[in-house]
Amino acid sequence: MRDLIVASRNKGKVREIKELLAGLPLKVTSLLDYPHLPEVVEDGKTYKANALIKATTVAKLLGKMTMADDSGIEVKALGWAPGIYSARFAGEGAGEKACNQKLFAMLKNVPISQRQARYRCVIALVDGHGKELGMVQGTCSGLISKGERGSNGFGFDPLFIIPRYNKTFGELDVCIKAKISHRARALVKFRRLLENAL
Ligand code: IMP
Repeated sequence: MRDLIVASRNKGKVREIKELLAGLPLKVTSLLDYPHLPEVVEDGKTYKANALIKATTVAKLLGKMTMADDSGIEVKALGWAPGIYSARFAGEGAGEKACNQKLFAMLKNVPISQRQARYRCVIALVDGHGKELGMVQGTCSGLISKGERGSNGFGFDPLFIIPRYNKTFGELDVCIKAKISHRARALVKFRRLLENAL
């Protein structure tokens, strides 16, 4: 079995990626398994740049094939922000709850008809020397709710409504998120990339 490192310490993200790659002939580990590694400075200006920075930095440190997911939420009423700054939306280290509260506050007077949003996920794959093997992306459209609903998923999921179900990712069964999310859509393409790399 080949090793694949997921260059992330985000528990929600790592859990989803591992579940979505299950069944492949790979031993998947993440930065949660390498607590001694330094933080990667994500100073790119795009999802692609950040995904590549994370993947190449970790691949060079560990000498193993590595993937990195750079993702975020984009809100139409905010000019499609926060995007690549989603994790730090409420300030460095402020946490998910604070991000959600800040988003609600910024959209306080915005009616539901104008609360369109989308998640975006870009995934980069590099070999053990840090050479890029490919890049894929996926998106998922929805609406920002007016209050937190449900506790499934992570991050912005309790306020991200999927109109087809009129439920947030926090309320929907995780199996549904695993089929229609930005990450699930990117990972369908990612599996094809991997087949060429294995
Ligand atoms: P990154 O680790 O720099 O890529 O930051 C990703 C951030 O985007 C997360 O910390 C969340 O704020 C947000 N995000 C990305 N994907 C999801 C998702 O599937 N659910 C909820 N929030 C997400």
